[in-house]
Amino acid sequence: MKTIVFAEHLNGKFTKSSLEAVSYASAWSASVGGTCIAITYGSIDASVLGTAGANEVWKMDALSAADGEQITKLMLAAQKESGATAIVLSQDLIGKSVAPRLSVRLNAGLVSGASFLPTGNIVKKNVFSGKAIAHVTVNSEISIVTVLPNSYGVNAAGAACPVNAFNAEVGTARVRVKEVRVEESESIPLPEADKVVSAGRGMKGPENWGMIEELAKELGAATACSRPVSDIGWRPHHEHVGQTGIAIRPNLYIAVGISGAIQHLAGVNGSKVIVVINKDPEAPFFKAADYGIIGDAFEVVPQLIAAAKAFNATK
Ligand SMILES: Cc1cc2nc3c(=O)[nH]c(=O)nc-3n(C[C@H](O)[C@H](O)[C@H](O)COP(=O)(O)OP(=O)(O)OC[C@H]3O[C@@H](n4cnc5c(N)ncnc54)[C@H](O)[C@@H]3O)c2cc1C
Repeated sequence: MKTIVFAEHLNGKFTKSSLEAVSYASAWSASVGGTCIAITYGSIDASVLGTAGANEVWKMDALSAADGEQITKLMLAAQKESGATAIVLSQDLIGKSVAPRLSVRLNAGLVSGASFLPTGNIVKKNVFSGKAIAHVTVNSEISIVTVLPNSYGVNAAGAACPVNAFNAEVGTARVRVKEVRVEESESIPLPEADKVVSAGRGMKGPENWGMIEELAKELGAATACSRPVSDIGWRPHHEHVGQTGIAIRPNLYIAVGISGAIQHLAGVNGSKVIVVINKDPEAPFFKAADYGIIGDAFEVVPQLIAAAKAFNATK
């Protein structure tokens, strides 16, 4: 079985979710004795995709930005050339845009947001906010899977692999990239973050977020928030996690002054370790927590910052 997997990059680096998709694709193809070809574009050293398990890379140098329609055409051409019967993408912005297009054009079954490797033609994925696992059977000749970010993990045990030039007729982009702005802050993108410090209405107002940012900085974490906080405008919308926001699965999720409503939990309950800080011992979040601190955030968080600073000073 040949598997092709799309790898996206940002600011000269492959995204964590792409490396995860490559790791997934490589493990899937290896499980049936096949090969894994990573497909990418632009001027980047793509041999590193071999460390995540790709056997080879096909790269279209002439393409400079990931436009959904162009990447669809690139993947269609790569599927035709390779004869791949398995196609993997990350369930990120570009994957969500490209996978359904591929599904229609190849008449191929699509399983979106998979967290587990396929067994035969069955792909498992979490449903109902992680409360159940669906076993999806794909009956088409070609299978397409998008991998839920932070669910499978990145394999870095491989070695650099060959990169071959690949060209496809991808047409012109409908979206023109006028400018790429590199974030001035050194903040970590939320979907990529290994650790997240998140806060809710318990923080009382936007002026109190300094300590959340400081704790996140000391821990090397990204910041997030509950929905009402972004709805009121205390924090930007891209920080909103939950059922209607971003779903994240970091190794560490610290929730400060968040009640733990079901809609919030839906986006964070895949986190490996959950720490809850809340002054109400009856807050529902404590039921989902690995560690709970019953206390006032305005007293607890400064103590955590001091402890993190003291720890960092010993490194
Ligand atoms: C259809 C739908 C979709 C939704 N989607 C989402 C979603 O995606 N994400 C999301 O987050 N919400 C979502 N919600 C809203 C959700 O139901 C909750 O209302 C919301 O999560 C509550 O936010 P919160 O915990 O910040 O605020 P609150 O519920 O007001 O809780 C604040 C918490 O802070 C604690 N607290 C107060 N002061 C302190 C202090 N000094 N120190 C420590 N703790 C303190 C309180 O004890 C309380 O537990 C959705 C709702 C609906 C109906």
